[in-house]
Amino acid sequence: MTDPIIRFDKVAKRFGDISVLDGLDFTVSRGEKVTIIGPSGSGKSTILRILMTLEDISDGTVWVDGEPLWHEKAGEDRLKRASEAHLHKMRGKLGMVFQSFNLFPHMTVLRNITEAPVQVLGLSKPEAKDRAMGLLDMVGLSDHAEKYPHQMSGGQQQRVAIARALAMRPDILLFDEPTSALDPELVGEVQEVIRKLAYEHDLTMLLVTHEMRFAREISDRVCFIDKGSVHEEGAPEDLFTAPQQPRTQEFLRAVLDG
Ligand code: ADP
Ligand code: MG
Repeated sequence: MTDPIIRFDKVAKRFGDISVLDGLDFTVSRGEKVTIIGPSGSGKSTILRILMTLEDISDGTVWVDGEPLWHEKAGEDRLKRASEAHLHKMRGKLGMVFQSFNLFPHMTVLRNITEAPVQVLGLSKPEAKDRAMGLLDMVGLSDHAEKYPHQMSGGQQQRVAIARALAMRPDILLFDEPTSALDPELVGEVQEVIRKLAYEHDLTMLLVTHEMRFAREISDRVCFIDKGSVHEEGAPEDLFTAPQQPRTQEFLRAVLDG
């Protein structure tokens, strides 16, 4: 395995008395496409939100691209709590696509995509527009640049959200159940875009989904998470056809029959 681009080292996350992650060890290699599956409430979104710096950690260390995410080096082998400047720098390595799209409702599609590249990366407006139009072409929405989110279907909005995340040129793209909020007939068009990204880009992808067939198709590796730790992981053809752990077998039976 090449050097991991993401590494959770004995990470704990507590909300008050509730322990969500308990000594989680988890790695993703550069360019790898990894899917996280597991029951509701098992900590899947929390893992992504920690990486996106939307939630901090209670214990352990998260490494992204060789650097601690929630800490900064303080001397040779000591770590101290990360400063806002460090978090800001680290955030630039990651993008996230949420279940509920989260587009800015008062901005056009084009502006949704150019806003952060202009404000955060300092691109000129023409540069940001060029980049945005290229991405809209990639997600099949070139003709929709001047529309507002409410004028589009959920599937189209989610494709814009993917373009918006890519406009920041992240090394790692996180997807939290990107098709769960969509009407069934719109799931395919969003999966098609993600599939294209998975096959044609060297982007590292970490995806949470309940779409097992899709997970099997696009993942190099599938991790079954239960109660905040990796219960079983493997190549999709192994994990889906011959899960070893009773808990994994039970989960897969329930979702595949359901
Ligand atoms: P999943 O995505 O696997 O369904 P989550 O990571 O969203 O699970 O949540 C894991 C657990 O953490 C759940 O029990 C949830 O209620 C709890 N949790 C998540 N966020 C918070 C929060 N901000 N405050 C308190 N509890 C939370
Ligand atoms: Mg979740």
